[in-house]
Amino acid sequence: MKADLLYEGKAKRVYRAEGKPGQLVLSYKNDATAFNGEKKAQFDGKGRLNNEISSKIFTSLHSKGVETHFIERLNETEQLVHQTEIIPLEVVVRNIAAGSITKRLGFREKTLFEPPLVELFYKNDDLGDPLINDDHAKLLSDITDLELKQVKEKALLVNERLTTLFASMGIKLVDFKLEFGRKADGNIVLSDEISPDTCRLWDLETEQKLDKDVFRQGTGNLIEVYEEILKRLEGQS
Ligand code: UDP
Repeated sequence: MKADLLYEGKAKRVYRAEGKPGQLVLSYKNDATAFNGEKKAQFDGKGRLNNEISSKIFTSLHSKGVETHFIERLNETEQLVHQTEIIPLEVVVRNIAAGSITKRLGFREKTLFEPPLVELFYKNDDLGDPLINDDHAKLLSDITDLELKQVKEKALLVNERLTTLFASMGIKLVDFKLEFGRKADGNIVLSDEISPDTCRLWDLETEQKLDKDVFRQGTGNLIEVYEEILKRLEGQS
């Protein structure tokens, strides 16, 4: 199924799909990184869990009319996707203040953002993924004004759909990061992954953290909380 390796990132490898032009195989790794790669570890089973979780979330989004690059899960750690050229922007949606925004702008943790806040970061490890505005985004990528507006609308729509999905699993969607890619026909589509690596997920009742913060902060067992997310997602389907 896999042909040549095109790219290796911190959490996934990207291969050309054998005999399927315009399609890629994403292979999820067991590596976890935080603080721009300064903290690193390996967790047996993480690749399988994120592959399954991300596949279920993209499938749920498809059923609610949101287009993504996802085609199908192939096996434990791999999925087939449409090839896109990733736009070097990280689109973060925040419902509740946590993480970098508490340090950068002094929002008290758990401040509610109503309506949800959308932020753009420049996807560039050497620069530490800095926060940018729309004008920077247009200079740093090939995105147009209209496309930026559409990307933000899509991010907010994904937030609505995922907030509902996670609420039905007894989970608060605190924030998450999306990436978008350009298809061969020029259209922009939701790409990359949606998993506990890229979302902050808190138990609705206990506020227990069920995401990568347990690794970032060294406060829990990453595999156990990712298993919990998968178990609750399976209860939905
Ligand atoms: N995030 C991500 N990749 C990044 C940076 C952030 O997936 O390179 C996610 C992160 O998991 C969280 C949201 O985006 O769900 C907001 O992250 P934040 O800006 O608070 O940064 P952090 O505190 O994680 O450095």
